[in-house]
Amino acid sequence: MDLHLQDIHSLAEGLRRREFSALELTDTLLARLANRQQELNAFVTVTADLARQQARDADARLARGDHHPLLGIPLAHKDIFCTRGVRTTCASRMLADFVAPYDATVVQRLRQAGMVMLGKLNMDEFAMGSSNETSHFGPVRNPWDLSRVPGGSSGGSAAALAARLLPAATGTDTGGSIRQPAAFCGVTGLKPTYGRVSRYGMVAFASSLDQAGPMARSAADCALLMDAMAGHDPLDSTSHPKAAGNFSAALGRGIAGLRIGVPEEFFGEGLDPEVATAVQAAIQFFAARGARILSVHLPHSVHAVSTYYVLAPAEASSNLSRFDGVRFGHRSEQRSDLMELYCQSRYEGFGPEVRRRILIGSYVLSAGYYDAYYRKAQQVRALIREDFRRAFAEVDVILGPTTPTPAFALGDKSTDPVSMYLADIYTIAVNLAGIPALSLPCGFTAQGLPIGMQLMGDYFADELLLAVGDAYQRETPWHQQSPKEFGL
Ligand code: GLN
Repeated sequence: MDLHLQDIHSLAEGLRRREFSALELTDTLLARLANRQQELNAFVTVTADLARQQARDADARLARGDHHPLLGIPLAHKDIFCTRGVRTTCASRMLADFVAPYDATVVQRLRQAGMVMLGKLNMDEFAMGSSNETSHFGPVRNPWDLSRVPGGSSGGSAAALAARLLPAATGTDTGGSIRQPAAFCGVTGLKPTYGRVSRYGMVAFASSLDQAGPMARSAADCALLMDAMAGHDPLDSTSHPKAAGNFSAALGRGIAGLRIGVPEEFFGEGLDPEVATAVQAAIQFFAARGARILSVHLPHSVHAVSTYYVLAPAEASSNLSRFDGVRFGHRSEQRSDLMELYCQSRYEGFGPEVRRRILIGSYVLSAGYYDAYYRKAQQVRALIREDFRRAFAEVDVILGPTTPTPAFALGDKSTDPVSMYLADIYTIAVNLAGIPALSLPCGFTAQGLPIGMQLMGDYFADELLLAVGDAYQRETPWHQQSPKEFGL
């Protein structure tokens, strides 16, 4: 089979058997990428020379008998992860020339496992967005339909995977940014339990919500990536002491007896009928294999979007204050005094969505409004968390759609922030609670657009979610489909 169509598991097998070298694999994907980059715009930076060097190193390790399952496997990182010597832009003019002096922990761990970095992936500016249209480097296109968005903010990661440009990518999920683009592009992505994957070296958006995770073609491949990515990191104060896990070893369990909760609130008004049908079919799949389907209630989830759009901007306004043109970031030419330097640099460096978030965040944190907005949102966050706690006393996993609709057209929502924010209606509660969730493909619309479903679990149920997702993918074809133009 063509190398670009193979998943991590089969590539690792081919490398081990010496059917091809890591360098051949890397060169094949780099050539494909060079052809496809222009129409998709999935990459911000391609690091071809570095990739070849890393591939040669991997071949040397393979020759010595090292058979780490990720050794020699190409990937690319969302451009929010700091990479030593390679610019990290966060898809912002503010950081267009920023070269970090160190690697993010995620980058370092995957590098140590022997993965080969092809480059840095496009995203919404500072991970703020649901369509990849806020990127300073231009939107990414959805390989299933080039007139549509790939989702965001990890849109470059999802589009590159769907277009078979690479078998693995990293993403980050603050309010759905791994799962929503995974759903729009027909790939698989895990938002891990908060604290399992280090945030060190990930440019901070909303620190109490941000979590890095793997994106790939299957749950089994995500498990391999998690084996390397997860683990305690003393450099991240919110890293959990028991963050590590053996995710791959957890695969292979059956479905019988699994208690699956279906939340009424995720099947209400606004849900596209084709998405609803595909997710219902997945529920039937599990029921037919002996799972118990139970109805659960998440009554406060209807407030998740409004809660998030108070808390995330509040944290962002604080995190982004470091980009002042002095310590970090773009420096304006217009600078007659210090105040003008700050104002002008930030005005020029940040795009409109980022500026909107900073304004909202500063407002909800300001004296006089703090109690009405920020404190209230924290209280609602506690209620949302409590909803999940109650639900997970009754069920093992919760299943629902990842997004209310399939991928929308470029330009459709970019002038209406609220309708854009509603694209995250099913993903955000998970971040507010800190629990893990896996998005995986479960069908297609009549027009041929991918549909994603989401499995949510209790704290540290990441292994269970991957195992349930893997069981589903062993018997369903959805995750193996590739967009016609990009497949063969
Ligand atoms: N779309 C959401 C936002 O704009 C989520 C982003 C994310 O998860 N990084 O904030």
